[in-house]
Amino acid sequence: MQISTTANPSPVDDARLAEILANPGFGVHFTDHMFLVEWTPDAGWHNARIEPYGPLSMDPATAVLHYAQETFEGMKAYRHDDGSVWTFRPEENAARMVRSSKRLAFPELPVEDFVQAVDALVEVDQRWVPDQAGEKSLYLRPFMIATEVFLGVRPAQHVTFLVIASPAGAYFKGGVKPVTLWLTEDYTRAGRGGMGAAKTGGNYASSLVAQQEATAQGCDQVVFLDAQEGKYVEELGGMNLYFVHDDGRIVTPETGTILEGITRASIIELAGKLGHQVEERKFSIDEWRDGVSSGRITEIFACGTAAVVTPVGSLKWDGGEAPAPASTDLTMRVRQALVDIQYGRSEDTFGWMH
Ligand code: PMP
Repeated sequence: MQISTTANPSPVDDARLAEILANPGFGVHFTDHMFLVEWTPDAGWHNARIEPYGPLSMDPATAVLHYAQETFEGMKAYRHDDGSVWTFRPEENAARMVRSSKRLAFPELPVEDFVQAVDALVEVDQRWVPDQAGEKSLYLRPFMIATEVFLGVRPAQHVTFLVIASPAGAYFKGGVKPVTLWLTEDYTRAGRGGMGAAKTGGNYASSLVAQQEATAQGCDQVVFLDAQEGKYVEELGGMNLYFVHDDGRIVTPETGTILEGITRASIIELAGKLGHQVEERKFSIDEWRDGVSSGRITEIFACGTAAVVTPVGSLKWDGGEAPAPASTDLTMRVRQALVDIQYGRSEDTFGWMH
């Protein structure tokens, strides 16, 4: 892919940038540039470019605004102590976007083009990658949208893939803290044959009322159950789940209707190295409640790009509550091992850093 670059004539000045990077928050500040490439059936992917960051001008009849044909990714660039900048398994995000794109009837963006686009944006905006103090990073948001101007339900004949970037502060200010969870029995996020395994905006739009319910119940996040039987644990609104047992077994819900996290997949490999076997299988909500009350479940944790790994605290539902499991030992060990690889503080024996 040939990428042309138009430098931003008025990038954020150094003093303002230092102020932003000292306290970036999440998803509120954006870098000086963005990447774009377009697709049409005749030309394929073409016109790859880096432009000054700014608003997109869109016809009100642009398809994505009406039918939500969209896919996205979430990943981070980390600064190591020697100043170098690294991403974590970007080809896995690229491969997941290919899977999401198939489900959304989009053209496929080749893995190497996705990685090249992310690399190119990180390269031009590398001064936006914060130092690693407090686990800061540059959050990267690749996304694909239906940009054909047409009101009709069919795959768009004009598609745009973009990458934007936003510096991210510590997910946990003042130390890692367990997330409390609300079990929704009214809403599900994915049905058989649905879009659960795809990273597409509609899944997040449909999760908002459940998240509102969780917040009203004083909980941090929602747990979704399977849509068919309402019996099996799937995942949180934006994280996958792990259940640690007293005999060393670790269980994580099987794939199919969940979003297959890159963190989730990495933990399966990492746990193996720490001497734990991970079982990917159906895991019922009764098994959760019984396991916590009998003490057979010793730890529960959630994982994803944003928080890496976080202990799960209590689980609330309409009419009851299960307490947090007693321990967070393995959770914190897994977290440390991953973070150390991402920030270059331990040897990357898996070859995950790019
Ligand atoms: N599940 C959902 C629904 C998510 O949105 C995310 C975040 N991408 C995850 C799980 C975790 O995925 P990852 O580890 O790739 O960030």
